[in-house]
Amino acid sequence: MEKVLKCKDVGVNCDFIARGKTEEEVLKKASEHAKKDHDIDEVTEEYLNSWRKLIRNA
Ligand SMILES: [Zn+2]
Repeated sequence: MEKVLKCKDVGVNCDFIARGKTEEEVLKKASEHAKKDHDIDEVTEEYLNSWRKLIRNA
C-alpha cells in the first residue's frame, strides 16, 4: 500500500503530494520538496514529527 503526505494537509496552499512505500520514503520526498519549494533551509525533527502524523495510506 502506498503512503502519501499532502502539502495541503500541512497547511500550505500547494498541490504537491509526497508518495512512497514507507514513511521514511515519504518524509524524504517531503523534505526535498520543502527545501526546494518552500524555502525551508533545514528540516528539523519537529517538522518530521508533525509531518509523520499527517501521512495517510493511499
Ligand atoms: Zn508544497
